Amino acid sequence: MKNYQSFDLIEKISFERIGGSKKELKAAQIIQSELKKEQIDSSLESFEVDYHEIKEAKLEVIEPFKKTYLVTGYGMSGSTVEDGIIAPLVYIENGLEVNLIEVKDKIVLINGRMAYKLYEKLIKAEVKGFISISGSVYDDINQTDLEERSLRHGHYQHGKIPGVTIRIKDAEEIISLNGTLVKLTLLQKEGKRTSNNLVTTIKGTKYTNNIVAFTAHYDSVRFSPGAFDNATGSAAILELLRHFSKNPPLRTLKFVWCGSEEMGLLGSKAYVQKHLDDIPNYEFVINVDMIGVILGYDIAVCTAEASLVDYINYLGKEVGFPIKSSQGVYSSDSTPFADAGVPAMSFARLSTAGGAEIHSRKDLTKFLDAKNYYKTCRFMIEFSNRIVNSIVMPIPRTIPENMKLELDYYNLRKTRAEK
Ligand SMILES: [Zn+2]
Repeated sequence: MKNYQSFDLIEKISFERIGGSKKELKAAQIIQSELKKEQIDSSLESFEVDYHEIKEAKLEVIEPFKKTYLVTGYGMSGSTVEDGIIAPLVYIENGLEVNLIEVKDKIVLINGRMAYKLYEKLIKAEVKGFISISGSVYDDINQTDLEERSLRHGHYQHGKIPGVTIRIKDAEEIISLNGTLVKLTLLQKEGKRTSNNLVTTIKGTKYTNNIVAFTAHYDSVRFSPGAFDNATGSAAILELLRHFSKNPPLRTLKFVWCGSEEMGLLGSKAYVQKHLDDIPNYEFVINVDMIGVILGYDIAVCTAEASLVDYINYLGKEVGFPIKSSQGVYSSDSTPFADAGVPAMSFARLSTAGGAEIHSRKDLTKFLDAKNYYKTCRFMIEFSNRIVNSIVMPIPRTIPENMKLELDYYNLRKTRAEK
């Protein structure tokens, strides 16, 4: 394994890297300096992302008891009036129709994070505010952070309802003590910031106009050092880049480190938009999101013809690498490409239940090791070597109907029938 060295990059960029923040830019520059060491030029392609700053977030139960609870503001959900809003509280669980009668002008408590569909229902029902539940009943206030959530464009295109997030233990207390009247205060500043995709190209030696792209997001969420999600993928495509710069491919390769994936795949969406004229030349996209975890299992999710699924499963058997390949839409940077008609896939080594966590301060390098990381890298090199050097591209450049439907669901153009 003496030629491999990308694992070191994971530690170097394991710090909070929120889309559009200075630290996200710093991470991009660190990756860029790794490329410079190999005399590889790269460029930053900027795009705008939402930005918010919570000034005040407060929740008080007024009746039948008085208590103030620790909450975090829901970004991009607007603000209340300065003194807050007082309204009756209704626990609407997951928002079934039966839960949503007579919620007009009320403040609603919901299970988990805000789903797009539920948000649309709440806008129609004219609720005044919402409280989302976060964490686990085993959380320790001194060791776990109360999640700071944010609405996305898919939500607020319908309007804004100010919301906060509360610890599950506190939500349990309020409901068991029959809290009926609450005061919600949320004051925030909303605006735009700049995020970046880091892009580099290896020109094909023969099929210059045929492009295969490698993508991985390098941002993380609030509090999260994002070692597993997704410093690992960021390092892995660097490994692939090093391989192909030493072994020139027949096809042209693009390597894209995507910013702001965690804010709704914004980097890959911006990339596809910016390069729309060139998209017909993209034959395939390989995305890497989360590998290297010690305890876990490797998967490949293909938004492509089913023949690709078989191809990967067969190759896994052939070279003795355990991987389960399937058709589907993986919520990562492969998806905007697939949505633009380019067959795309994601590699991941998911953590076993109870194992390494993502999206929290616990997403640390201690759950990763070089052995598992390089095992997946080796397979990805084996696979992409064949693809980028194939005489005839074996992956049909079509998105099959069943995957188009999944993309419609994922992008909210269609809704699954409710039971
Ligand atoms: Zn990720």
